[in-house]
Amino acid sequence: MRLIISKDATAGDISSVISLARELTDDPGAVAVETRDGHMVVSVTSNGDPIDPIAFRSLGCIETIDESYLPYRLAIQNATGTERFKIELPSIQATIGGDDFVVMAGPCAVEDETDLLEIARIAVAAGARLLRGGAYKPRTGPYSFQGIGEEGLEMLSRVRNETGLGIITEAMEPATVEKVSGVADIVQIGSRNMQNFPLLKEVGMGTVPVLLKRGMSATLEEWLGAAEYILDGGNPNVILCERGIRTFSRHSRHTLDIGVVPVIHERTHLPIIIDPSHATGAASRVPSMAKAALASGADGLLIEIHPNPERAKSDGFQAITFDQFDKLMDELKKIATALGVGI
Ligand code: PEP
Ligand code: MN
Repeated sequence: MRLIISKDATAGDISSVISLARELTDDPGAVAVETRDGHMVVSVTSNGDPIDPIAFRSLGCIETIDESYLPYRLAIQNATGTERFKIELPSIQATIGGDDFVVMAGPCAVEDETDLLEIARIAVAAGARLLRGGAYKPRTGPYSFQGIGEEGLEMLSRVRNETGLGIITEAMEPATVEKVSGVADIVQIGSRNMQNFPLLKEVGMGTVPVLLKRGMSATLEEWLGAAEYILDGGNPNVILCERGIRTFSRHSRHTLDIGVVPVIHERTHLPIIIDPSHATGAASRVPSMAKAALASGADGLLIEIHPNPERAKSDGFQAITFDQFDKLMDELKKIATALGVGI
């Protein structure tokens, strides 16, 4: 990280930057001071955890914070903490990262067309903008339902035409990205594939927005490093998705790191949405985390709904029913109104 000090800083200001840097790195050798273009520049390197630049923002004498030594530079073009990138989905007239909270709802997996159409009709009537559903499913074991593949993509496409909902669906390997992108308004990269670099490079070469789920054991730096592959490939349309991480807590499937929402907004220009379904792994806990997502400033939700959760071919235990979804959407609309956010 490089801290560019403003020209009118006093010697006292500069020494407080240096002492804070030394304190945070716990290594006097990690801090170097130089003059460039009339500015003092304090360079801070760390072999350990990257240093959070927020610590330096409160020191008024810093003009610019350049974090470009990190494994990403395009993902963090938000040194002022105020820039937001809006991802437009023109075919459904939705914007992610703007003033609206965008809800994406549907089954874990595309199963059959009648159910899918029914789910989509309920979702659109309740105010969802996109239909989620995996045609290709990344399952923990090879004996579980693996998705219906191309046939599922075709069903999504027909349901899209029928209902006007956008489609978000997962691509698991580079070879299917083109097909998935032909149907999807947003291509989902799943948690298990967050660091599948050939896959990231492939979606980076396209223009279709990409929803990059956080790996279940990924640090913020690893997640942003993965986003960087897509951005570096030339696709600026990256949406981050927090879906719970693995921690020592055993009471839920994963631990929803909702605290990452303001950090993403402070440090990056990218939108972030929350997946309360995979995070909690329990339908009864999904509504409260969905409401927390909206209150936290997240840009949207990815949520699993199913007409008969007990009969779902995957993740039924965390899918909410139509009635529960309707009730949740009513509550979200009230919170959104209070916050001045559109749904
Ligand atoms: C999914 O969205 O159905 C999914 C498999 O999610 P994750 O990659 O977060 O486990
Ligand atoms: Mn699922």
